[in-house]
Amino acid sequence: MIYTDTRDSTVRVDFKTAVVNGMNAATGGLYMPVELPKLTSCVLNKTSEPSFREVAYESIKPFVEGEIPERDLQEIIMDAYPFNAHVVPLDPQSYVLELFHGPTCAFKDFGARFMARVMSYFNRGEDQPLHILVATSGDTGSAVGSAFHNVPGLDVTILYPEGRISPLQEKQLSTFTGNVRALRVAGTFDDCQKLVKTAFTDADLRERFRLSSANSINISRLLPQSFYYTYASLVVRHRSPRDNKVDNPAIICVVPSGNFGNLTSGLMAQRMGAPIEGFVAATNSNRTIPDWIATGNYRARPSIATLSNAMDVGAPSNYERMSSMFTLDEIRLNMASYWLDDAGTIEAIRSCHRRTGYIIDPHGAVAWQAWDDIRRGAMSRLADGMAGSPYQPGLTPSLPSWAKRVIDREAIGLILETAHPAKFGDTVCNAVGREPPLPDRLEKVLRLPDCSQPMSASYHSFKDWLINNL
Ligand SMILES: *Cc1c(COP(=O)(O)O)cnc(C)c1O
Repeated sequence: MIYTDTRDSTVRVDFKTAVVNGMNAATGGLYMPVELPKLTSCVLNKTSEPSFREVAYESIKPFVEGEIPERDLQEIIMDAYPFNAHVVPLDPQSYVLELFHGPTCAFKDFGARFMARVMSYFNRGEDQPLHILVATSGDTGSAVGSAFHNVPGLDVTILYPEGRISPLQEKQLSTFTGNVRALRVAGTFDDCQKLVKTAFTDADLRERFRLSSANSINISRLLPQSFYYTYASLVVRHRSPRDNKVDNPAIICVVPSGNFGNLTSGLMAQRMGAPIEGFVAATNSNRTIPDWIATGNYRARPSIATLSNAMDVGAPSNYERMSSMFTLDEIRLNMASYWLDDAGTIEAIRSCHRRTGYIIDPHGAVAWQAWDDIRRGAMSRLADGMAGSPYQPGLTPSLPSWAKRVIDREAIGLILETAHPAKFGDTVCNAVGREPPLPDRLEKVLRLPDCSQPMSASYHSFKDWLINNL
């Protein structure tokens, strides 16, 4: 597969280059495959439920062809995914796609674990390890740390702002040993990011070490996220004649979004032939994308802190990928959008629990509320010309091509649940009156000793530390 760049379509690189570079430093653009090949009919038209790993393998094959032989690719998939995505029925019109069954209980495990194995694969034969530097405000660091832990040839340093992440998140970051270590920086997330960025542009440092990032814009984190869209849409199509009494459902993926990597992966799966009718982009008060869809003006802005903090992004970097794949009009036909504030998020967790018995986390709750409003009248009011205000929480006034399928009750919502509710125990307890039980793998982490090391926010001391410790 050839990869090009969102800012310069004459760029031509292979998969390895796209993965190792992360982004194109020369243009500031993001890598994209030049085509999204259709999945084979033996994947798409199988008469029984597919297996996740089979879908994963068949989906990724064309993107690494000629660079990773089939046997090695099979091993990478097996090693990356000892866990599954779970499709759980919620009510007759909705399923939850649980993406939290990986080691850190968040969907980022799917992308990070594949990226780690691919980077390790491309680093074989090098005599020096590849040093990954990551600045994190929470979830990304733990997914990356866990994904790279004990992977040969790779070495990870995580920087996080001391006292500014949740105690559970801090435990998840600071208890690694071996090739992964955490620095607790006396400063903000922006300070952490600045240290990492300065290191990447420090010629002296780059001379001494092979440095790389594990950023969410890396194409090797995006492609594997398409696996669970394809898998889950095939599962829902298979089950819905029996479970939902709908033979040919319009499957609508409802995606709690921040940087829009997850949603972009869904758009890729749809292009590759997954039976997905459309999407709902669900955000918290960081509503840059809903505003863009409503008004046609893309206006990035500073982020606002919310209860669904992994979606607190005011300048979503994958906007650039979405708009390289589609025109705004095409996006509007394919994708509805919706936003919800914190008070609405608490109420969403509460009403989801009351009505279905399911305990959903604050990120998934935004998506659940979007779907619940859409199917209970918001879409038909919009079709009747009674649009809400884009300045109030709710559905954005822009009618997707699949609106009629919702109104005719032929649509099924697939709500992506991106984190385990126990990771946000306080918020969930506030809404439903009790804390969800902690999964064993999180409980274990709480008992491990903290191995983080202190770091000042000055570049000089960070650089000294790298030179003495890498
Ligand atoms: C990162 C994250 C998101 C947002 O995903 P994007 O790909 O940035 O849109 C949503 N929920 C959780 C729990 C996350 O960790």
